Amino acid sequence: MKEIVIISGKGGTGKTSITAAFAYLAKGSVVLADCDVDASDLHLLLKPEIKRSENFYSSQVAVIDGVACTSCGACYDVCHFDAIIPGTPYKIDLISCEGCGYCEKVCPEKAITMKANLDGQWFISTTRLGSHLAHARLGIGAENSGKLVSVVKNVAKQLAQMLKLDTILIDGPPGISCPVISTLSGATFAVIVTEPTVSGLHDLKRVYEIARRFRVGTGVIINKADINKNNYNKIREFIDIQGIKHLADLPYDTTFTKAMTEGKTIIEYTPDNIISRTLANIWPQILRLTENTKKQ
Ligand code: SF4
Ligand code: SF4
Repeated sequence: MKEIVIISGKGGTGKTSITAAFAYLAKGSVVLADCDVDASDLHLLLKPEIKRSENFYSSQVAVIDGVACTSCGACYDVCHFDAIIPGTPYKIDLISCEGCGYCEKVCPEKAITMKANLDGQWFISTTRLGSHLAHARLGIGAENSGKLVSVVKNVAKQLAQMLKLDTILIDGPPGISCPVISTLSGATFAVIVTEPTVSGLHDLKRVYEIARRFRVGTGVIINKADINKNNYNKIREFIDIQGIKHLADLPYDTTFTKAMTEGKTIIEYTPDNIISRTLANIWPQILRLTENTKKQ
């Protein structure tokens, strides 16, 4: 099973537009996974029709039985998160509760129980491009986005096995925190999308370091490659020294954004555009690059 991740060390590099363009080129030959569970927007372009929806529980919160509570204050004394509100009976501030379970242990009346907290939902959908999509929505203020990414990836793998497909195309989260680590873990190849800015180079280095540690093959697309020659040269120097595959340069072009606002991939919107032609050329290259590094 091959896992191709489109990733960027920061948001706003065009990562999702590029993923959608590859999804258009791949049609139904891949399973798609949107691992940007905090702020997913691949669905805006793919217009998924949800076929299955499941709740995601990963954390716990304390719940006080108001009848059994004698207002002794023992729970209040041990809570390090100011999550217990004194009163008759005592109550829990669900936003502040970290689910440590300390209060449950000290309550003399056994009035406190730990309950699973709804942290989000995950979905299996069909898309207008003929591919299946595994995606999710993290609840507001919910944590454990790395765990939810793992769920999305596992669902995508099961879908691929069921559909007898050997490639999963993943829209990765921005940044370098838990969800990114979870996305890159077990991946076959990472397409890192960057842009020639100071922060672009900085974030490229950080996300590349994670990919390198996981022994994930890497290639770089430099989006808006023509906006700053000096920064562009620094990126090229970095990827040449590290031996990262330079996949393509894409020029700055507002068509990318226009296509997005029309709800289309750039290839559908303007097939003859230089960006469309470049992406159409490199998708088969990426597939070839992953051929020798298939993971089971
Ligand atoms: S420890 Fe138990 S009985 Fe005491 S205030 Fe807390 S919930 Fe109520
Ligand atoms: S579970 Fe932990 S954080 Fe939550 S109210 Fe009890 S002691 Fe506080």
